[in-house]
Amino acid sequence: MAQYVAAIDQGTTSTRCMIFSHDGRVVAVDQKEHEQIFPRAGWVEHDPDEVWRNTRAVAAGALAKADLVIADIAVVGITNQRETAVVWEKATGKPVYNAIVWQDTRTDRIVDELGALGGGQERYRTKTGLPLATYFSGPKIRWILDNVDGARARAENGELLFGNMDTWVLWNMTGGPEGGVHATDPTNASRTMLMDLDTLQWDEEIAREMGVPLAMLPEIRSSSEVYGNVRERGALAGVPIAGILGDQQAATFGQACLSPGEAKNTYGTGNFVLLNTGTEKVMSENGLLTTVCYKIGSNDTVYALEGSIAVTGSLVQWIRDNLGMITTAAEIEAQARSVEDNGGCYFVPAFSGLFAPYWRSDARGAIVGLTRFVNKGHLARAVLEATAFQSREVIDAMNADSGVPLTALKVDGGMVANELLMQFQADLLGVPVIRPVVAETTALGAAYAAGLAVGFWSGEDDIRTNWAKDKQWEPTMADDQRDKLYKDWKKAVTKTFDWVE
Ligand code: ADP
Repeated sequence: MAQYVAAIDQGTTSTRCMIFSHDGRVVAVDQKEHEQIFPRAGWVEHDPDEVWRNTRAVAAGALAKADLVIADIAVVGITNQRETAVVWEKATGKPVYNAIVWQDTRTDRIVDELGALGGGQERYRTKTGLPLATYFSGPKIRWILDNVDGARARAENGELLFGNMDTWVLWNMTGGPEGGVHATDPTNASRTMLMDLDTLQWDEEIAREMGVPLAMLPEIRSSSEVYGNVRERGALAGVPIAGILGDQQAATFGQACLSPGEAKNTYGTGNFVLLNTGTEKVMSENGLLTTVCYKIGSNDTVYALEGSIAVTGSLVQWIRDNLGMITTAAEIEAQARSVEDNGGCYFVPAFSGLFAPYWRSDARGAIVGLTRFVNKGHLARAVLEATAFQSREVIDAMNADSGVPLTALKVDGGMVANELLMQFQADLLGVPVIRPVVAETTALGAAYAAGLAVGFWSGEDDIRTNWAKDKQWEPTMADDQRDKLYKDWKKAVTKTFDWVE
């Protein structure tokens, strides 16, 4: 009998395949980065063909590293960077344009025009749980159809398909032009700004206003069911694909935040705090998103409140690639430890405007509080602290929306290797920060969704049992120091507003 589950994690910077055992341990990982394409200020693209090639390569690579054969893999799950939009030809599988990435702000004019129809940023909030923002897929699809010759007519004719990265990978893995399954799950669909949060169906009225033909949209299935089998041309030929969760929802699932009131914070390219609100859809009054957390088979839909932060780990990349201040991301910790504190320096990385809780596309980044005293170490600290300050802002919003203050924070993602950051986060929140043994919770969550669909895991209790703590950081900072730092951060944030007309 097959003893393992594979998960494809199609992330913003790389694509991974991870293989897990029944007790939720990582057996093998293979990973490939793809190019980040920046054609203009504010634009971010990926090449969908490169991503698909990498997906096939890492699936084969992970199997080889684990020394396993296809028959050892019971099922495959998919998790993905959300909102990133691809439009391709149904007959050939050829993308008509590069994937427009979630961070891309080129749709700001489209977003303003839609808001001007009435209701402004809140126009689609009741139905979709989201503020109108460049972040979501709907306006990105509109941009492609408006800017690629003939695309709109072809989309209306049913010749073009849209997908987020989950759908792009699923369609290709299940055969592409030869019978590929064109489907998605409600967590991904809830980020297009085209889905009704109650019915889990595409909303015809919003799609019409957004200029997106329904014919090109994938079928919305649950997050955990068999969608199809991998076709010959994929490395996992014949294995059923049975789980899809957007990366942040997958991490929430993998962190076993399965009861209302449980929350996690993922520290990757950006940061994303998700709070499970159970079958209740909580509408935010403090700049958070209401989104689908997961829908397991025919079970009731579970919702979440989400605080999305665009730039956290990618600020560390920026310091590395654009300033050359470090050569690896991990080096920032030693640089930050070379000084006692931030020396009065604050770095607000509003590179893509500001997401939660502000939702200001007019904001741009700022480094403030500079004096002759400030050196590289202080700047490194300001970079790391920016992640913790932004996380505190969305957690404050969450506490206000839910009325129940968080008592501890489960964390995961690439940046949680940074112990200075974890301690500062605990200090700034005043609650313990807890890192699990398996920090790869995104891929693990997708594996769980797939495994549950075929009975590889019997239920949510298996997920709870598998979760184990690695390390916990306790808050030690004095209240007045914490308050002063946070007040200064808030002031720094105001300096980023109104940069773009
Ligand atoms: P994603 O899944 O969004 O691609 P990951 O969870 O793999 O991202 O995290 C990678 C991010 O974490 C990168 O942006 C990188 O700059 C950052 N990062 C990795 N290691 C460290 C570290 N030790 N200290 C600070 N940041 C780090």
